[in-house]
Amino acid sequence: MRLAARVVWTLGAISASLFVAVPDGAAAVVGKQRVLAALVSYGPRPYARADVTAAFQQADAFFRRSSFGRLSLSTTVTPWLNGGLAEPSCGASAERMFAPLRSVSTSAGFAPADYDRIIYLVAGPDCGFHGIEGGNEVMIVTQPDAHLLVHELGHTFGLPHAGASSVCATYCVTQEQGDLFSPMGIGFTDFSGYEKEQLGWIPRQPRVTRAGQYVVETLGGTLARQAVVITAPEGEYWFEQRPALATPALIVRLVQPDTFSRAFIAPSTMLLAPIRSGHPTITAGQTFRIAGEFSVTVRRAARVPLRLRVSLAATLH
Ligand SMILES: [Zn+2]
Repeated sequence: MRLAARVVWTLGAISASLFVAVPDGAAAVVGKQRVLAALVSYGPRPYARADVTAAFQQADAFFRRSSFGRLSLSTTVTPWLNGGLAEPSCGASAERMFAPLRSVSTSAGFAPADYDRIIYLVAGPDCGFHGIEGGNEVMIVTQPDAHLLVHELGHTFGLPHAGASSVCATYCVTQEQGDLFSPMGIGFTDFSGYEKEQLGWIPRQPRVTRAGQYVVETLGGTLARQAVVITAPEGEYWFEQRPALATPALIVRLVQPDTFSRAFIAPSTMLLAPIRSGHPTITAGQTFRIAGEFSVTVRRAARVPLRLRVSLAATLH
């Protein structure tokens, strides 16, 4: 849950070699995830176990909806467990931080090895962050709501923060966690088509290699047409229907596939001003253009699915 700014070169800087290797985190995450939520107290017990259970129920509903029923949570919430005298150090290595929490949990009869993901809800330490993850384990040091749980579980699935940029010309100035809709950003509306494809919730989406007319479905429409992807020298542009709003409109995110890390797939950057500043959408009649590469026009249409007209420069054929 870090909020930081960074600068990412995009348009113009086209020297990137395309790696064929995939990061650890790119595997599909489907089926029932057995989650252990271990409440570990170092003195205070600032919230009730029932509130945690309720937050996990909301998180489960979010995952079921966003994954089209492909992923669900089966969560065991422990009672408050006594952590003992020594609080975990916020600055320690992941291994040193998680080891004492594992032993507290195991002593109480909840063996971490029996679960796919383990979330330690720790009361006591003041760490200056909400949550931190390592592998399939997460430590959360604040009262969790459904958004935080979905976000931190998303990290354990290999998802990085979903960024956003309002300035994207020769380079993008990126807010690392700025995506308006993804729970990996500041949103809590829906995972992106890119994230869903990576997690195996939707089939591989069409990569446009020729000019023509394309359709982008709404949530719940044909799963093979949730997004349209144009591969340009600087990365993949993912076009999809803006989620959860009545007026049809297109949103666009840029993914640079070679920017993955060992733990996370490549991050996406939502373009906050694809047409003009203050408007994160492309609406009927408008054309999104990357000079010298391609253009995407949303054809005038009163209803969804959205129909797009794509033109490609010779170099993108
Ligand atoms: Zn985070």
